[in-house]
Amino acid sequence: MKIKALTLLAFVLVATCALLLAQETKSTASVSIVVIDQSGAVIRHAQIRLSPSLTMAPLNLETGVDGESLVDLSPGNYDLSVTMAGFKGGNQHIQVPDTTPQTIRVTLKVDGCPPGCLVVYPHFDGQTWWNHIKVLADDKLEGRDTGSRGERAAQAYAIEQLKSAGAEPAGVNGFYQPVKFVSRQIVEKDCNLSLIRDGKRETLTLGEDAIIGTRVMPAPEVEAPLVFAGYGLKVPEKNYDDFAGVDIRGKIIVILAGSPSEIPGALASHYQTAAERWKVLRAAGAVGIVSLINPASMDIPWSRIALNRAHPTMDLDYPEFNETEGAKLAVTVNPASAEKFFAGSGHTFEEIAALGKDRKPLPHFPLAVSLAAKTKVEVTNIESANLVAKLPGSDPALKDEYVVLSAHLDHIGIGEPINGDRIYNGAMDNGSGSALTLDMAGSFKKNPEKLRRSILLVLVTGEEKGLLGSKYFAAHPTVAPKSIVADVNVDMFLPIVPLKLLTALGLDDSDLGDRAREIARSLGVRVQPDPEPLRNLFVRSDQYNFIRHGVPSVIMSVAPEPGSPEVKTFKDWLTQRYHAPSDDVDQPVDLATAAKYEEIVRALLINIANNEHRPQWKPDSFFRRYAEPVGTGQ
Ligand SMILES: [Zn+2]
Repeated sequence: MKIKALTLLAFVLVATCALLLAQETKSTASVSIVVIDQSGAVIRHAQIRLSPSLTMAPLNLETGVDGESLVDLSPGNYDLSVTMAGFKGGNQHIQVPDTTPQTIRVTLKVDGCPPGCLVVYPHFDGQTWWNHIKVLADDKLEGRDTGSRGERAAQAYAIEQLKSAGAEPAGVNGFYQPVKFVSRQIVEKDCNLSLIRDGKRETLTLGEDAIIGTRVMPAPEVEAPLVFAGYGLKVPEKNYDDFAGVDIRGKIIVILAGSPSEIPGALASHYQTAAERWKVLRAAGAVGIVSLINPASMDIPWSRIALNRAHPTMDLDYPEFNETEGAKLAVTVNPASAEKFFAGSGHTFEEIAALGKDRKPLPHFPLAVSLAAKTKVEVTNIESANLVAKLPGSDPALKDEYVVLSAHLDHIGIGEPINGDRIYNGAMDNGSGSALTLDMAGSFKKNPEKLRRSILLVLVTGEEKGLLGSKYFAAHPTVAPKSIVADVNVDMFLPIVPLKLLTALGLDDSDLGDRAREIARSLGVRVQPDPEPLRNLFVRSDQYNFIRHGVPSVIMSVAPEPGSPEVKTFKDWLTQRYHAPSDDVDQPVDLATAAKYEEIVRALLINIANNEHRPQWKPDSFFRRYAEPVGTGQ
């Protein structure tokens, strides 16, 4: 009885399903969508958006490895568009008629993609990289602020990916290398800042006229005369000294950010770091520093700089890293308010900015005002970690040497809303480099390469707080310090135009530059040195901490063709998206460029891992000094 009843039930179910299926198939059509480039080549992994004309939500589809996407559609009108990052989409209208089942083939042609632009590189397709970014820059990760819940989630994801790629843990605690921070947040309502002129107080509006920095722990109260000291640099190698003959003892110095053209970019960048600058200022007896932004090198507008001021700053919580001991005040001034500092001095900010724009020599003179500050800072302790993973080498003599691939996983978290969005997702900065690191591990699993030296994948924390995680790692590496042969750092490489040109920082400092240039050339890509030394990029990424420990390093970024409309594309990106909530996954990127860039990085890593010789500093590189054994350096 039981069996019979069940059989009957099953029969009824099957019949019903068949009937439903028949009705279903009768009213839908199987649509095959193929996306091609201008030359007719099929595009794999293209994103397609399908909008029904009815009130349904649009459907997001993707073409597979065969370049085809299959979808069943009920009768109606649809708009198809390609949303493949980095390309102008082809649009097409299709009609699915209310007739018997059929297969419709739709071909979408993508514009703005010249023939050959979608060359598939052997190890990368751009898509797996982008998929990592989609996770890391998701709103759920809340912008991956150092020590935050979002950063921990990003780290958990990274570890899961590294594990599945077969990378071995190489931190202190599994993949983790814990790092302790102290966080400082300005309590602005209990702060004030004013200029004192002839005994009279002129209040400066915090946020509008100036910002009190907390990278230097400010003293509760400071009052001191101001002296303008040009670029505020002392560069012994070039016999350059902004403080010669200027008495700055007990004073707050005012400087224009930047450097004179006679100082080469890397050297200028080095002496502009807080540590180097403060060494000189402390020796000369200064008590604080006021920085005037050089309008010629402003990456982001003042309004956005000011918005970020309530954001805590961080420092490593270890005495050995206190680089600004004795500094009592650090203030940054809005260029639009800078004239207030110069009134009565016989000089104007306009004159100073005009000279600074062309990196011309600047005068030095006392200002007619003193600066008085009262500050309150809230201090908390934060913990985070670097992640370290290893792809072991196989050569008995060389496997204990390491090629570091580094990228920072942290970003700036949640901040002041811009256009209603508070999450600073950091898709390019530096979801892009973190994703590349994970993708690289995956590529070595998929296409193993016999590596002689080991590769060390280092995802650092605290970069946005001042390169802190890498500073800690470089000082306390989880492998023998002398065993690190090179650092290839990847930070915001901006694949937003087709890849024809790369900027490499450190290009002429070691033979890593020559190797990178050669590899890039073999893929049809030119390499140029830093075209914008004013932006100080060389000390603004994690490679700098490796350099300071003697490790030859290089960092490459996609660059615009000089004089082409691409220059504006980059400029607009920096103005609109850099350190803004719009650096998210809704921005256009060029997946083919990302893939090509990854291919270059992979080839460089293999070259360093397998080359007979460790990378060497060039004899005339300034940074070579850090590689000299103690006592023989300059
Ligand atoms: Zn950043």
